[in-house]
Amino acid sequence: MPKILKTQGICLGSQRLRESSKIVTFYTEHHGKLSFIGKGARNPSSKFGSALEIFGLAELIFYKTERKQVYTLSDAFLIDSFSTLKMPDKYLYAHQIVELVFRATSLEDPNHKLYLLLHNALKILDSNHSAKSKNYQSLLSAYYLKVISILGFKPELRHCVVCKNPKGAYFSIERGGMVCSSDKHQTTDRTYGIQYINTIKYLLNTPLSKSLQFSPSQLTLKLAQDYAKYHLENVQINSLQFDPDNK
Ligand SMILES: [Zn+2]
Repeated sequence: MPKILKTQGICLGSQRLRESSKIVTFYTEHHGKLSFIGKGARNPSSKFGSALEIFGLAELIFYKTERKQVYTLSDAFLIDSFSTLKMPDKYLYAHQIVELVFRATSLEDPNHKLYLLLHNALKILDSNHSAKSKNYQSLLSAYYLKVISILGFKPELRHCVVCKNPKGAYFSIERGGMVCSSDKHQTTDRTYGIQYINTIKYLLNTPLSKSLQFSPSQLTLKLAQDYAKYHLENVQINSLQFDPDNK
């Protein structure tokens, strides 16, 4: 018997489907990533209104029969559009926030911590506080590191990953954490100095909103992104063509 389900979710992106419909992907509170057909969603008078636009938080109602790749959406109501995220200065950051979850998760694999982090990251980026500080890169770096940790690849920062010496001197992406001076030769990738270990520790151990007070160099963002790319190796598959302006 099909069940009617209701859940909140954040829109990760959409694809056009024929003339008037679209396939839209949400990361939902109770079911993880789900894709839906929004029939007629591209019509200006669609019942979905703006509930199926990228970055938005919406309540979704759908029938669930057997496990499917794509469900048909019965109804959707916008809860929060996080409207400033479509402004040019924030768009790229907001896009990277949703894209990481899109790429790093499988369909119907719920993770409540990840849902809360995604929601929180968009809310913070949308806030006046973020617009004032403009430290979007710090927010994104902290977000990347927290997502990686939630997905089980938390960098080892307590001791050297090779010999467990608590005096780490370098950070290695390939080794997944700190290495001491004597074990540096065991890494083949580029290593980062002690200041990066301190930055990563700070960003991982403080609430996401506090990351706005911190202005790490662009290299920390690159480090966090390279770490995500290296350890979340399936991130490139099953990717949708993002089309945020798709109505
Ligand atoms: Zn060591």
